[in-house]
Amino acid sequence: MGGRSQVLASTGHVCWELNMADTPRTVLISGCSSGIGLELAVQLARDPKQRYHVVATMRDLGKKGTLEAAAGEALGQTLTVAQLDVCSDESVAQCLSCIQGGEVDVLVNNAGVGLVGPLEGLSLAAMQNVFDTNFFGAVRLVKAVLPGMKRRRQGHIVVVSSVMGLQGVVFNEVYAASKFAIEGFFESLAVQLLQFNIFISLVEPGPVATEFERKLLEQVSTAEFPGTDPDTLSYFRDLYLPASKELFRSVGQNPQDVAKAIVKVIGSARPPLRRQTNTRYTPLTALRAVDPSGSLYVRTSHRLLFRWPRLLNLGLRCLACSCFRTPVWPR
Ligand code: NAD
Repeated sequence: MGGRSQVLASTGHVCWELNMADTPRTVLISGCSSGIGLELAVQLARDPKQRYHVVATMRDLGKKGTLEAAAGEALGQTLTVAQLDVCSDESVAQCLSCIQGGEVDVLVNNAGVGLVGPLEGLSLAAMQNVFDTNFFGAVRLVKAVLPGMKRRRQGHIVVVSSVMGLQGVVFNEVYAASKFAIEGFFESLAVQLLQFNIFISLVEPGPVATEFERKLLEQVSTAEFPGTDPDTLSYFRDLYLPASKELFRSVGQNPQDVAKAIVKVIGSARPPLRRQTNTRYTPLTALRAVDPSGSLYVRTSHRLLFRWPRLLNLGLRCLACSCFRTPVWPR
């Protein structure tokens, strides 16, 4: 391919140029120091047809070692690592200024943080950080790349949402709200952008075994959740946490499989607006979809968690062994 070269700009930042004779699509991904973002960056950069040049970004370049090692020979060829904090206007502008013409063909909003625990014990600052990163971080990047995509009348915006963008999950109120916000925002935007030949895809993984879960468990192991009554604390620690661990253990996906699903979405000629990645989780999202009143989902979740936790465990194990596996569209 050889369509790109790295140059050192006067600012001292590494920039990259595109040789227009040979034009792989420029894919900018946020949050590539670990998990799904890292896997996706590597899979795209190693695309056998070399259809992509990946700008794999992360907030802290001190953490680029794992990505660089995983990228291997793709590093400096089809993959460039760059600094990007989705919560900073300056950082976004700096990163885009290093891409020739600021032209991003595919934007993947992947960076995200979680927050779990009884609401009374969580600070508003922690909640605002979730929205600043998950929602406004994605919006900030979209605002930055959209003018170029509109001018060129082409583009694809992929957002790593969650099944929690489709259904609320107990003790995850703020995280789920941030993903619901994303779902509403991007579904609304998708209508206008079709007019510009720009596609939006919301990718909705279920539980994925990444740093995300580890960081959350670490956070809750030391958190005291001040102001929370003993009953709620006990429901959280004795019922929710074991059930959540079982959920990850039984139906959790690995980040490689989620990345594979995103690669398919990016390679698709007519990308879907929504794509769930985990067939083992589909029966749980279906509970909400089959009853528009919402009662079936809320009552079933309540009974399983608070009254029949053993049945919940059994059900999760059944899902793990694919008893209820249902197709996810599109394949
Ligand atoms: P992860 O923690 O490995 O990756 C999240 C990445 O976002 C990290 O590299 C982190 O440094 C980065 N990030 C956080 N704040 C940032 C900021 N301000 N600027 C730039 N980067 C920032 O976890 P993951 O599971 O790979 O998460 C990726 C996405 O997948 C997130 O949006 C998450 O909400 C979503 N998701 C995860 C799961 C799961 O169970 N792990 C399930 C559904 C959806």
